[in-house]
Amino acid sequence: MLSSGMERRGRRSRLFAIGFLIAFLTLPALLLGPGGCAKRRPLSILLITLDTTRADYLGCYEGQPAHTPTLDSLAAAGFRFTQAITPVPITLPAHASVMTGLNPTRHGVRDNGAFHLSPSIPVLADQLQKNGYQTRAFISAFVLARQFGLDRGFDEYDDALYNERSGFRTNRAALRWADRLDASRPYFLWPHYCEPHAPYHPALRFRALNGLTPYAQEVAAADAAAGELLRTLRAKGLLKNTMIVAVGDHGEGLGAHGEDEHGIFIYDESVRVPLLINLPKGAGKKVIESPVSLIDLAPTLLDVAGLPPLVGIEGVSLMPLIKGTAYSPRPSEYRETFCPEYNYDHARCRQCEHRAGSTSERPRPSCTIWRGTRGRRAILTQNSRTRPGPSPSGSTGTSPLSRRPHPGRARCRRRISSV
Ligand SMILES: [Zn+2]
Repeated sequence: MLSSGMERRGRRSRLFAIGFLIAFLTLPALLLGPGGCAKRRPLSILLITLDTTRADYLGCYEGQPAHTPTLDSLAAAGFRFTQAITPVPITLPAHASVMTGLNPTRHGVRDNGAFHLSPSIPVLADQLQKNGYQTRAFISAFVLARQFGLDRGFDEYDDALYNERSGFRTNRAALRWADRLDASRPYFLWPHYCEPHAPYHPALRFRALNGLTPYAQEVAAADAAAGELLRTLRAKGLLKNTMIVAVGDHGEGLGAHGEDEHGIFIYDESVRVPLLINLPKGAGKKVIESPVSLIDLAPTLLDVAGLPPLVGIEGVSLMPLIKGTAYSPRPSEYRETFCPEYNYDHARCRQCEHRAGSTSERPRPSCTIWRGTRGRRAILTQNSRTRPGPSPSGSTGTSPLSRRPHPGRARCRRRISSV
């Protein structure tokens, strides 16, 4: 009996030791999650671009009267950038900067309609796709149609529209895709909403928002479309491990400096944009006042995905700003518009704003408004007498400019002018 009891106790001790050893060896794996290694699954990325959206027309920026509960809630739970700008207040070039991390001087897309992003320039979607991401784009305006070159790297590029479609229609296409999503792989989803673009014709339920201008009501409509998408993706469990970015491509003049819409001037009204970044729970929240640009988005998203930056990129990752670690800002921010030159035979506007406050390279327009023979307003800048710089078909940067008029140019112009 004694030897039997001792044997049982010995067996228990051995079992306890083995159990302890197993627990000791497997605890780190349990803490690190499925897979048992330190490398976590990459975050999915939802990039919402808000066409023609001024930062001060979002409630969270506390400027103009606004009704933007979706974007305000993203701001409240994440990171809000107060000094984000677009390098160019025109839809196609601005989105080209988002996708390449380059200023227009380098990616070469200077205006809507007549340019095609060169296939030689690395793009964000391509990098993500090659690294296992499911990539889908759902756009709402013809100016971003695949023929202009932003479709590279997307498994699906949904541009099934004539000139423009509502954000809710865009959502329908995006959510059909969400039902077919491969849950075992990360995704990069880019919906583009175009509601605030002129002319402003908000739907009846947004016109009922008292105290808002028609433009602000259109911004409210874009916010509602973003809200519908987020609610549905969340209900499907698709936002648990997802970085959400909401950003404007450019603003809108709304009469400031004599500009009603955008593309002629490079004042803050048409260049300053909202930028909100939301990371999965526990990442914190902050208002970030450092000047940043749309060219910083591609490196930021690749940083979050654990991938190297695109080759030759000008933007920098914003993750150090978000984490509060060492951040080296660029010495200057660039902005331009060539639209006056291409469309109204007047001078382009360019500005390089230095951190140190130098004004030596700030060709700010003189604000002389000119009414052309076609009844369209344009601007004469201080540079207009000399017209320095390259021709419209030449590049100011080192990269090749791909100004490739596509077939059916006249039809294309009609579609663009109807947006
Ligand atoms: Zn735009």
